[in-house]
Amino acid sequence: MSRFLRAPFDAMEPYVPGEQPRDKAYIKLNTNESPFSPSPGVLRAVAQEAASLKLYSDPECTSLRQTAAELFGISPDNIFCGNGSDEVLNFAFMAFCGKDKGMAFPSISYGFYPVFANLYALEYDAIPLKDDFTVDPADYFHLDKNIVIANPNAPTGLSLSVSQVRSILDTNRDNLVILDEAYVDFGGESCLPLIREYDNLLVVQTFSKSRSLAGARLGFGLAQKEIIADLNKIKYSTNPYNINRETLAAGEAALREQSYYDANCKKIMENRDFTAKALEALGFEVLPSKANFLFARTPKMGGEALYLALKDKGILVRHFSRKEIADFLRITIGSMEQMQALVSAVQEILK
Ligand SMILES: *Cc1c(COP(=O)(O)O)cnc(C)c1O
Repeated sequence: MSRFLRAPFDAMEPYVPGEQPRDKAYIKLNTNESPFSPSPGVLRAVAQEAASLKLYSDPECTSLRQTAAELFGISPDNIFCGNGSDEVLNFAFMAFCGKDKGMAFPSISYGFYPVFANLYALEYDAIPLKDDFTVDPADYFHLDKNIVIANPNAPTGLSLSVSQVRSILDTNRDNLVILDEAYVDFGGESCLPLIREYDNLLVVQTFSKSRSLAGARLGFGLAQKEIIADLNKIKYSTNPYNINRETLAAGEAALREQSYYDANCKKIMENRDFTAKALEALGFEVLPSKANFLFARTPKMGGEALYLALKDKGILVRHFSRKEIADFLRITIGSMEQMQALVSAVQEILK
């Protein structure tokens, strides 16, 4: 730390991304990336765009928003493009939460929520999950705070139904409800259609998980146009060219090849079912996931020990040291080959 850092940031704990080690080639099942390449049209579009990099990107993301609007059946005015959905979340915290308006979110959820809350010195409620690791919608009724919920939740993979989300929206008409749908394409039910009815809903989606573009950094905020205008106000006050040219081209091409990504999500769900059954056969408890990962534990071995033993065998998974979930591993669903390697490795370790 330099002597110039402002005092409020002294004790701030930054977000810790999943490890990206370079010491050897791992089977990487720790950061919920897709095992599939971006679609052919994306690769072409990115290559074509390279020559135009001397020019700034379109700050309004016009063409990408138009294409997404047609696909989603909404207006471009309902769409905000962020440099990853992390940026959409950051801007939403910055725009809508403050001393007068704190946040509430599940105590076990995406690790970035408390980081943003601390960055903006917000009061926040971290609301415990139920004993079965589900979110209880009733815990969020009539709060005097804005709410952010990942649906499906991470790292549990468990999801709320649209009617459960509706109950939270109905009882928080004067609070913003941010629904982080990073994993919704793997069997969850999107609440995007609800933005017509609710002016207090902001749906956040990403191209990082189901659309194989984690490295491109692209996410959407989807809401009524007044909320989108507010997010744009923040964006134009920080980084108007937040989406680079290649990512704009990649995102638009990806939306035009939706069937490729639908097929990939279907494969991931099949591989998820295979892996869940195989782990259950080995004695694991596996939460019923609607995401591209499983959250699982075995009574035979602690989470950290199993994580280390797998790493030793060249397989990376994610372990969280928080005590409520320290027995669990979060395992990204990759290709069938990768999942078979994982299951064999676990079998050998537990022998
Ligand atoms: C991965 C993830 C994100 C971040 O996605 P980016 O678009 O890559 O920034 C947001 N929310 C949750 C719950 C995630 O798991």
